[in-house]
Formats: sequence, structure tokens, C-alpha cells
Amino acid sequence: MKICGLMKTTLLDYPGHLACTIFTGGCNYRCPFCHNSELLDINMDSEYSEEEIFEFLNKRCHTLEGVVISGGEPTIQRDLKQFMGELKSRYSLKLKLDTNGCNPSLVRELMEEGLVDYIAMDIKASPENYPKVCGVPYVDMKSIEETRDLLMRGSTAYEFRTTAVKGLHKKEDFYGIAEFIRGAGDYYIQNFRDSGNVLDRERGFKEFSAEELLNFADIVRGSVERVSIRGTAY
Ligand code: SF4
Repeated sequence: MKICGLMKTTLLDYPGHLACTIFTGGCNYRCPFCHNSELLDINMDSEYSEEEIFEFLNKRCHTLEGVVISGGEPTIQRDLKQFMGELKSRYSLKLKLDTNGCNPSLVRELMEEGLVDYIAMDIKASPENYPKVCGVPYVDMKSIEETRDLLMRGSTAYEFRTTAVKGLHKKEDFYGIAEFIRGAGDYYIQNFRDSGNVLDRERGFKEFSAEELLNFADIVRGSVERVSIRGTAY
């Protein structure tokens, strides 16, 4: 596992739980608004060994309730399943996975083997705008659809979420998203936040106003069970 960051405590990353967040290194996308741009290179060096994470958790597992595995894109790590299995066998902590949905076969294995308790999947845009918003020439939408379907049909708790970025998204995206996730449970719209470390700073992306976000939420409401707005972006 390439582990390139550790947030020792968070109340925001795992809904309803005090957790820590592990950041894996490397991503297959290059979303121009990505605020973790320092984590995208798969060839970057690890900051922490798995053993150092276990040492940290040995001390903190009694105060924490969960571990979030975020990135980068965790599902491109070849030994993610083995690592999550190790976490499950050592600690009675809930495990949350953040994913862009590119690796349905691994997500399926994690779900089937009970190695994940909550999955947050990005819905980047309406299907036709995926490559533009992901910053790559081609996105395998079949894989994205397969992960979506796994979550919607499975019994693992999940959420879909979109980081709304002024300069990339338009209200038409939310009509497309509403169709794409029709019948889902929880959907969150997260406002873009300029962390100071955005991948493509030249484009001057901005936040949407509260009113604009509420309009987007209204577009999706009716297609899913619950729509919520988060003030901060991830
Ligand atoms: S926002 Fe997520 S999927 Fe997009 S480049 Fe950043 S880490 Fe990868």
C-alpha cells in the first residue's frame, strides 16, 4: 500500500463517526479541481508504512470509531483488499472507502467479504461530461455504472456525492446525474473549496452560491431518497 497521508482525527469524513483518514498515493484521473493534487502521482514515495499505521491504530483504536481510506484513488492500490482485511482482523473499527468508482471488481470483493462498512462514490458529472470533469481523454463509463449498480443493489451503506465546481458544472449536469443515480439512497452535493492546492489553478474555479446549490439539489430531489448539501468539498 502506498500511504501518503494520515489525518489522525476527523469528524467530517465518516458520517456519524469519529475517524482517522488514510490517504493513498496515486490516481487514474486528473480532475482539474482536485484539491489533493499532491497525491496523484502513482510513483510518489510512501510517507507511512502499513506497520506505522498499525502502530498508530494500536494506540488510538479505543477512541476512534472508524478508518476512512481515501486518496488519490484507493482502488488502484494492488494490496488494498489485503490491507483492509488486516485492519478488520486487528481492530473492531468501521471502515469507509472513498472511490471514484473505476474498479467495480475490487469494490465487489470488499463488499462480499465484509471488508468495508461504508462506501462514498464520486459522481463526477453527467455521463457525457465525465472525461472533461475527470481531466482525462476517456473514462470507462461501464465500470462507473457497474460500481453504481453494486452499491445500489448491495447491502453495504453508501453515498453518492458530487463536488460542484463553478467553471466545470452547469445545471444540466444535475439533470444528467439525477437520471444516472435514479433510485439511490443518499446523494450529497459538496461545494468546491479552493484548498490552495487545486490541480489546475489557472482556470480560477469558484464555489457556487447557496442558492445555486439549492437549485441543483432540487433538480436531483425526486430521483433519489435524500439529497443533502455539504459546505465543504473533498
Ligand atoms: S478528485 Fe479524486 S478522482 Fe479526481 S483526481 Fe483527485 S483524487 Fe483523483
